[in-house]
Amino acid sequence: MGFDGDDTLWHSERGFHVAQDEIRAILADHCDPTVLDRRLIEVERTNLHRYGYGAKAFTLSVIETATELAGDRLTVDDVRAILDVGKRLLAHPVELLPGVEQAIRATAARHPIVLITKGDLFHQESKVAGSGLGDLFSGVEIVSEKDPEQYRRVLARYGADPTGFVMVGNSLRSDVGPVLELGGWGVHVPHEYAWELEAHDDEDAVRAHPRFRSCPDLTTLVRVLDTFGADAPDPPPGCP
Ligand SMILES: [Mg+2]
Repeated sequence: MGFDGDDTLWHSERGFHVAQDEIRAILADHCDPTVLDRRLIEVERTNLHRYGYGAKAFTLSVIETATELAGDRLTVDDVRAILDVGKRLLAHPVELLPGVEQAIRATAARHPIVLITKGDLFHQESKVAGSGLGDLFSGVEIVSEKDPEQYRRVLARYGADPTGFVMVGNSLRSDVGPVLELGGWGVHVPHEYAWELEAHDDEDAVRAHPRFRSCPDLTTLVRVLDTFGADAPDPPPGCP
């Protein structure tokens, strides 16, 4: 089984929302907040292949957007304040989502589990350490992009057959869709915040897939795994 980290095991996007509010306030004298939001998401999209995902990429894209929108009116103090927002994001303590520890312990007792996450290597490693759950995982895989090819490579490293693999995560685009495509199973655990760049092109098709499941949070994960039926990869015994 694979678990996503950000917004599946611990809060992440919420921190970016707070950070973006702070950025709007810092740049309030220079640009309209709506214009800022719209331009920032475009800059982030353009920079994904350069910077990848995470707080450092976000910070660089904010600075680029700010220089573009404010021009020479942007001050060193503004840039310093933006950098401070980015540093606070990186330093924010890990806050686990409901039911995470119990779900991870229950599944780890029955299946090898791997954390598969994308983003900045250094920050992701510190979040795994901060979660206190690192030892329960057979491995931690920090990838640059979560597409079928990356999942195929990760599974090959563990000698795992994709058809017996279950991925649990909050993103249909990154956690569920690519694994269904490979012949595996996907459990969607939605989070209240969704990043615009994580939208899936065809969410209805993913949700209608026979190997798609969802649960409101990880407190119900074990019960959901039980619904996989006879085709499921070792459904946990003794579930209600
Ligand atoms: Mg996630």
